[in-house]
Amino acid sequence: MTGEVWQIGEVKISRIVEIEATGGMTRIIPDATREKLREIEWLYPHFADGNGRMRGAIHALVVETPDRKIIVDTCIGNDKARDVPAWHMLHTQFLSDLADAGYATDSIDNVLCTHLHVDHVGWNTMLKDGQWVPTFPKARYLLGAAEFEHWRGAAGDERDGQRQIMNDSVMPVFDAGLVDLVQSDHTICSEISLVSTPGHTPGHVSVKIASAGEQALITGDFLHHPCQFVHPEWSSSPDSDRPQAIATRREMYARLADQPILVIGTHFATPTAGYLKKDGDAYRLDVS
Ligand SMILES: [Zn+2]
Repeated sequence: MTGEVWQIGEVKISRIVEIEATGGMTRIIPDATREKLREIEWLYPHFADGNGRMRGAIHALVVETPDRKIIVDTCIGNDKARDVPAWHMLHTQFLSDLADAGYATDSIDNVLCTHLHVDHVGWNTMLKDGQWVPTFPKARYLLGAAEFEHWRGAAGDERDGQRQIMNDSVMPVFDAGLVDLVQSDHTICSEISLVSTPGHTPGHVSVKIASAGEQALITGDFLHHPCQFVHPEWSSSPDSDRPQAIATRREMYARLADQPILVIGTHFATPTAGYLKKDGDAYRLDVS
């Protein structure tokens, strides 16, 4: 399923949806009960349903500059054994949707993972003749150095659920020599740079896009759902350092609010992007 397309100056951003769903996100944000969500009127109808269930998505964002094509976050991927039943052994049309949007796998110059969780690295690799091979063979894969070093230790640890994810989706591209480890403030090209947003994971980054006087920010997972614009103190259950994650949300909201910066949420349901506005003591996402 192809999704929205946004234009930021000379940069085109295309959303390639792997999964979009209603419900199931309370596991990620336990404080976001149906009763509390019903109090946040602007979440309806896009980001919650009438029963107070959250809507969310897993999608990749292809960022195309005049001379480079970057895929930001690679979802869950096909054929992968995963703990979450809805993510286990997927067989989606993701690659044909990507091609339909104009991006053959060998046209991608960079793969960028905001962090190395299961739903951000999956299509780094694909199953071919029983082996995990790089899906984007001509790309340089950009992984945060701090993030990679943090999780690399899990690669041989059978007690850690991250082990399998590293083994099937990260180490094959590293072993193929396709990885560039980058700093959290890395500049990829004149239009695209990384912004350090730690807390969800130790090396988590967001992605800044600036071109011809226009700006956007791809959040990554420093928040998972727009309700956290109202409640930055609502932790996401996978946040590795909750106080740091809360501080990052507060700092980023203050930077983004009432600015001409399109905020593109990595797990936001359709329409996925909007402008952050101050709203009393909190914030709301304006998608009008
Ligand atoms: Zn995620």
